Amino acid sequence: STHIQLASRPTGWPSQDNFTTVTVTYPDLGPGQIRVRNDYMSVDPYMRGRLNEGRSYIPPFQIGDTLTGGAIGTVIDSNSSDHPVGATVIHQYGWRDIAQDDATHFRVVPKLPHLPSSLYLGMLGMTGLTAYVGLTDIAPVHHGDTVFISGAAGAVGTAAGQIARLLGASTVIGSAGSAEKINLLTSKYGYDVALNYKDAPIAEQLATAAPTGIDVFFDNVGGDHLEAALDAMKDGGRIALCGAISSYNTTEKPAGPRNMMNIISRGLTLKGFTLGGYMHRNTEFMEKMGAWLQNGDVTYDETIVEGIDNAVDAFLTMMQGGNIGKMIVKLS
Ligand code: NDP
Repeated sequence: STHIQLASRPTGWPSQDNFTTVTVTYPDLGPGQIRVRNDYMSVDPYMRGRLNEGRSYIPPFQIGDTLTGGAIGTVIDSNSSDHPVGATVIHQYGWRDIAQDDATHFRVVPKLPHLPSSLYLGMLGMTGLTAYVGLTDIAPVHHGDTVFISGAAGAVGTAAGQIARLLGASTVIGSAGSAEKINLLTSKYGYDVALNYKDAPIAEQLATAAPTGIDVFFDNVGGDHLEAALDAMKDGGRIALCGAISSYNTTEKPAGPRNMMNIISRGLTLKGFTLGGYMHRNTEFMEKMGAWLQNGDVTYDETIVEGIDNAVDAFLTMMQGGNIGKMIVKLS
């Protein structure tokens, strides 16, 4: 099996040199174990935090260990009657082409009629659930709301815009970093306004796009986007702090929003979250999102990179904005 391991810890932007590829030979299957051929693996921004030493909400990767992350595979050998050969399983043994361990680490998922199983890593998986939790639990969207979503053309963002609309938002505004993404947000994802943050300061663009203010802000970016939103929020507005990708690869800490006083004077609610505390919403989410996908209420994009040897490149490309929708590595 081919595994990707952490070779050294990056400072600022990671590079290929921080990773190494090794060949691992598995022993024969033990009792209760299964062997899985990975079909797709996920590369996600949170993995950048795990390359660093020190406290995060998930422990850091260790140098010399194979990286882990979400993956979808097919059982190819099994000592578990609940995980028969041919079953599709979701698990955390990504960054390798073949995985093997106790069957309890793998969850069998239904095959999706007419849809690729990679959706279990995106719209019907962790990133879709993140958007759903953010807009229902953390900063609930109410009927008629004006909603702003940063990082709108990514995996979480493409889910969030559509979910906001389905929850009754009347105006949905998104930001992203290319003309192609901006076009897609309005043409395919139903955004009323899409802002390219590379064209002009996001604060100026947002003030024009939302002259009467924002009720809900779903933030994937942080930094200048959070500051811009704090200026545009209506009284009593709600902010879901989901991510701050503008700071993940910088060596200097980002400037704090200079307008924090607005939180007080406008009575804003800002709430950060990570999915760990909200897995109890998953069953409800899967039912709703499964139906939305099947009946066409929700659409999706995936940027697919092929081969384990290109997994690091996919990870780096994603953080540089090279993906539309969910970045996926196809392994077989
Ligand atoms: P995306 O698919 O959105 O990919 C990352 C995107 O970030 C890139 O495509 C790029 O798009 C954008 N980006 C990179 N640098 C910057 C920058 N300096 N300013 C603005 N945008 C930038 O990834 P995900 O959907 O998986 O994740 C989105 C966010 O959600 C991340 O912050 C992530 O950490 C967070 N997250 C949080 C979870 C939680 O439980 N709280 C769970 C999952 C994700 P562009 O071309 O537009 O710049």
